[in-house]
Amino acid sequence: MSRTVAFIGLGHMGGPMAANLVKAGHRVQGHDLVAVALDTAAGAGIVPATSAIEAVADADVVITMLPAGRHVLGLYDDILAAARPGTLFVDCSTIDVADARTAHERAAAAGMRALDAPVSGGVVGAEAATLTFMAGGGDAEYAEARPLLEAMGKKAVHCGDAGAGQAAKICNNMILGVSMIAVSEAFVLGESLGLSHQALYDVASTASGQCWALSVNCPVPGPVPASPANRDYLPGFAAALMAKDLGLAANAVRSGGVHAELGLRAAELYAAYAERAGVTEDFSGIVRTIRDRSGK
Ligand code: NAD
Repeated sequence: MSRTVAFIGLGHMGGPMAANLVKAGHRVQGHDLVAVALDTAAGAGIVPATSAIEAVADADVVITMLPAGRHVLGLYDDILAAARPGTLFVDCSTIDVADARTAHERAAAAGMRALDAPVSGGVVGAEAATLTFMAGGGDAEYAEARPLLEAMGKKAVHCGDAGAGQAAKICNNMILGVSMIAVSEAFVLGESLGLSHQALYDVASTASGQCWALSVNCPVPGPVPASPANRDYLPGFAAALMAKDLGLAANAVRSGGVHAELGLRAAELYAAYAERAGVTEDFSGIVRTIRDRSGK
């Protein structure tokens, strides 16, 4: 069934995601604060709207793909009153779990329905429509959003009620951040003990040290030819995005009183590393910081 979708936030992720909805036969009315993003979207068949309010006025579904929670909540303040009663608001941005729950509450108070549906898969996944969506909200809302999510991705998981999608996203990325640091520390320890990268890889990748950070995104060049380490740590998954996600995880750890020492420490280490590496380096480049600090 073809839907009318308002898509707000046509950046690195939102632009190609909205374009995939057009390819799947939906009418997409897009808006972004940046004129060039709007022009690129128009070239992909998205109907440009001069304001978010104009974009949502006759939409069946409103999708947002914005930098952070403050952008989502600020936008909701502007547009909730402009949409038709009962419109489904799907937020695909990665934001604080508490902000996601607030977004659900504000949507409900305005007579709207809501789903949080953050993604993993990066810009490559957004372009190729191979994203994974993690959704939080009611069964009816998930069922309605599902055909749209399937047009933009290869997998969608309904994780639970309001905020559960964001919770799944930050828990997964906390595992990833901690495991990348652990794998990197092990390689630097191995170096200091005279162990070759290949020998450690051959053992750990088929033993109990196996994990994605080692066997897919290996932080040293050689053992996994496609990993960013082989192209001078060009992302991939940028250090700044990992730092952002670990910061969101740390917020939830603190507010929930959870004793997650490694998650909090990983957030600190990635915040310091990302200040230098930003969006230009893959998060696996943290191995160089560990090596530098070890005086190697
Ligand atoms: P981006 O900065 O490229 O795009 C965000 C867009 O939102 C920008 O074009 C900006 O102009 C627009 N915007 C901000 N406020 C707006 C408003 N009030 N009205 C209209 N437009 C507005 O960011 P991105 O890389 O596309 O990431 C978007 C979200 O997806 C973030 O939450 C990010 O954490 C998450 N994410 C990104 C990746 C990735 O690899 N880039 C992967 C997974 C998740």
